[in-house]
Amino acid sequence: MTFKHLSEYFSKLEKTSLRNQMTEILASLFHEAERGEIGKLCYLLQGRVAPLFTAVEFGMADKMVIRAIVQGLFVDGGKVVSVFKSEGDLGNAVQKLKLSESGKRKEDKELGIVEVYDVLYQIATSNGTGSQEKKINLLGDLLKYSDPLSAKYIVRMTLAKLRLGFSDMTILDALSWMLTSSKSLRAEIEKAYNVRPDLGYIGSTIKTKGIKGLSHVIPMVGTPIMMARAERMTTGIDIIEKVGKCAVEPKYDGFRLQVHFDGKNVSLISRNLENVTAMYPDIVEGVKKQIKAKKTIFEGEAIGINVETGEYLPFQETVQRKRKYDIEAKAKEIPLKLFAFDCLFADGEEYLYKPYLMRRKKLEQLVEKGDTIYVAHKEIVADPKRLEEIFQDAVTRGLEGVMAKKLDGTYRAGARDFNWIKYKRSYAGKLSDTIDAVVMGYDLGQGKRSSFGIGDFLIGIYDKKKENYLTVAKIGTGLTDIEWQELQVRSQKLRTKVKPENYDVDKAMSCDVWMKPEIVVEIRADEITRSPVHTAGRVMGPSKSGSALEVKVAGFALRFPRLERFRGDKKPEDATNLSELETMYDLQIGNK
Ligand code: AMP
Repeated sequence: MTFKHLSEYFSKLEKTSLRNQMTEILASLFHEAERGEIGKLCYLLQGRVAPLFTAVEFGMADKMVIRAIVQGLFVDGGKVVSVFKSEGDLGNAVQKLKLSESGKRKEDKELGIVEVYDVLYQIATSNGTGSQEKKINLLGDLLKYSDPLSAKYIVRMTLAKLRLGFSDMTILDALSWMLTSSKSLRAEIEKAYNVRPDLGYIGSTIKTKGIKGLSHVIPMVGTPIMMARAERMTTGIDIIEKVGKCAVEPKYDGFRLQVHFDGKNVSLISRNLENVTAMYPDIVEGVKKQIKAKKTIFEGEAIGINVETGEYLPFQETVQRKRKYDIEAKAKEIPLKLFAFDCLFADGEEYLYKPYLMRRKKLEQLVEKGDTIYVAHKEIVADPKRLEEIFQDAVTRGLEGVMAKKLDGTYRAGARDFNWIKYKRSYAGKLSDTIDAVVMGYDLGQGKRSSFGIGDFLIGIYDKKKENYLTVAKIGTGLTDIEWQELQVRSQKLRTKVKPENYDVDKAMSCDVWMKPEIVVEIRADEITRSPVHTAGRVMGPSKSGSALEVKVAGFALRFPRLERFRGDKKPEDATNLSELETMYDLQIGNK
């Protein structure tokens, strides 16, 4: 396929915001692509040359791209800048410049997508001395030979501005559509994607082997696995009733790490699949010393330790280790221990589809005695009374509670189910667990808080089915001055002119300033109640007169919401989702 043809697809995709239409356009693109092209194509569609979890970026700013245009098109720099100014977008500018030179454009070649990809890959992976010049030369040459439309999209890609407006999930839908003209295979494809969230791999496997190729995807050291999550329950009796005899582990209140080790190199992956290796040199050392496997992927919870007393530190202190500077000094002040709780791959063999007990056994063999990595304590329990005792003991020792794990449960990458159940300490209110919500916008402050520029902020949860955000509360109290300031600073970059399309907000909850969904906050509340002005779980229907919609079932709202902490480790899509909120509403003490 030529890059020009792909660019025509980019244009089509840009013109629609309807997901179903995008899916069909992408499916037809995938149909046309050759086996050897589709993997690369999947990255290009994201404006990249490698999967999202790798740090391969183009690293080109406007100035560098302008120099490449000058070089490739033989035009004057002043001219490029002036067209850029009038167009407001360098991609459009290069397209216009190319079109205006049409008479002499003999240079245009039919560049293939693999050919363009290879050059883009070289651009993205050049680093070190002289790399700026190299990038400019490579891009200049590419622009010289490309047609105007291709040039537009190449430029946008190198500036990391190719935003076609769809998520990985739409690509998965489209792959299903390519095979069946429906989304019927999406769940199966997503299951594989959760084990190898690398669209290039998923795309090319489907194209070459069909859906069968994805039936038993083996994880790969270096490719993060989407992390399994836990359901919640509020008594030992309920837990035993649900899963029977189970393993009970302490629930450490730190942060989760997925460790990838190839015998030499260690990568540490955070919950939102960021590579955080550089932040935790003490854990890296610990893995090298204590892990006995040529290749492995395992998970654990890292938690800070008080150097004097040896006690666990509260989350607020542990989280200070998440930093980009003064790493070594902080590591001395707050050393981390990693409590390993799962093994997903070891020495060429996958473990994630194997039952819990087998995974634990392997984990115990992997970890040698030392002072950084420990295997999380576990006890097999069949009696709810014993479960309660372990839970109480954990809480007394300053832990968050316990995790109960189904003995024959597999590791459900990217899924939340009852293979893992979290049982956290209860608080005074009816609601025992916190909610992770996304900050959607805010109102300008009055009085004392006008100095922070924020009076209150609107939060929402995520509706996975509709892929939109639904409101549950506006919060105007309970933050420290520092927290208000942090919110203000972080919100600056996220302001949008209009309410984002995927926000469902009642007029009564409108905000002075809207924000892109990015900041995740953990919110504690006394209770989940019902309110007609919040849209989470709200059902609308035609009024009696039939002329307008009215509230048929009120939405869920939080009573006395307060900020527990910012959750930098969670993505907006990881916010509590609607079905979880429904369960939490049902589970509320006394609500059953
Ligand atoms: P939550 O973030 O409240 O949904 O709880 C799930 C989190 O608990 C996981 O993502 C881990 O970071 C953490 N955790 C602590 N101890 C364990 C454990 N023994 N097993 C699994 N997860 C644990």
